[in-house]
Amino acid sequence: MTRKDKLERYRGKRDFGKTGEPRGGGSRQGAPRFVIQKHDASSLHYDLRLEIGGVLVSWAVPKGLSTGAGDKRLAIRTEDHPLDYADFEGVIPEGEYGAGTVMVWDAGTFRNLLAGKDDGQGLEQALADGLLEVWLEGEKLRGGYAMKRTDSGDEERWLAIKLDDEGADARRLPTSTEPDSVRTGRSLEEIAADEGRESD
Ligand code: MN
Repeated sequence: MTRKDKLERYRGKRDFGKTGEPRGGGSRQGAPRFVIQKHDASSLHYDLRLEIGGVLVSWAVPKGLSTGAGDKRLAIRTEDHPLDYADFEGVIPEGEYGAGTVMVWDAGTFRNLLAGKDDGQGLEQALADGLLEVWLEGEKLRGGYAMKRTDSGDEERWLAIKLDDEGADARRLPTSTEPDSVRTGRSLEEIAADEGRESD
């Protein structure tokens, strides 16, 4: 599948005349990036996105990722997003898909733990096979996570499982103790208020 085809679902859901979200189309080099966006939509959730095959492969994780070894969190696969979405922070207007405030809660690069090299093909194959193991090198989250598909179909259900490694610490609760943006330091309320001012 080409990257253009991969982004068809993303573009089909959005009116780019109304939302400030990126249309996408860029490419980049270097270590693959990950981002976790806190999204205050109809229900608050965390969108985990991993750069694989020229797009951000995405999951909505209702509770966010845990730092406790062996902890499992439900992750619903969502449509692939364009690479430049990783920098998106702002408000999706009422009536648009995913309406609500988006924050860059954590960001960084990641490594594929299942292959010797970070070749994109290894990751795409792992995704197709329904089992990824990645090391996240973020500002809040650092360590290994397995992503395991438990249910295919229209809505793929996966589990995000914290691996037992030096990044595991069950006492940490970063979603509670570090709630703000790693990009701008803002809270959800501040992002919403700033956008309100811009559109006045
Ligand atoms: Mn979302």
